[in-house]
Amino acid sequence: MNDAIPRVGIGTDVHPIEPGRACRLAGLEWPGVDGCAGHSDGDVVAHAMTDAVLSAAGLGDIGGLLGTDDPRWAGASGTAVLEHVRQVLEAAGWRVSNVAVQLIATTPKLGPRRTEAEAALSTALGAPVSVTATTTDGLGLTGRGEGRAAIATALVLRERRTRRRP
Ligand code: MG
Repeated sequence: MNDAIPRVGIGTDVHPIEPGRACRLAGLEWPGVDGCAGHSDGDVVAHAMTDAVLSAAGLGDIGGLLGTDDPRWAGASGTAVLEHVRQVLEAAGWRVSNVAVQLIATTPKLGPRRTEAEAALSTALGAPVSVTATTTDGLGLTGRGEGRAAIATALVLRERRTRRRP
């Protein structure tokens, strides 16, 4: 008999916007939009999700997963990071139940591509992902267009085999 033990986790990420850099965000390419600076592709949505699932499983955080300057992850896509964290979780006996993530940014407008983003992120992670977006009404670094942020929560399940009674 297996008891699935649920655990929740939280993750956040913030990256500065770098004028002229290609934008990859929420697992999608955004032509004509300035991207985020970062060692990888600066996809705050995918990175917040990664931290949330690691947090839920008690497996540390994205800095420990990827290293901060590992050349293997230079320019890596957010979806590649999600595929990697999925493998790490599964190897440790966990599976992701679902993730909710919210982008906090003035650009790009996520709404018209929400379904596409959810599909890309869900495929990479192997679990349902819901994506929402908000602005800060012009306040702070996201409101001034200096950067983008994301906050995610994750629910993960561990399959625990209970001992049979003799
Ligand atoms: Mg990041």
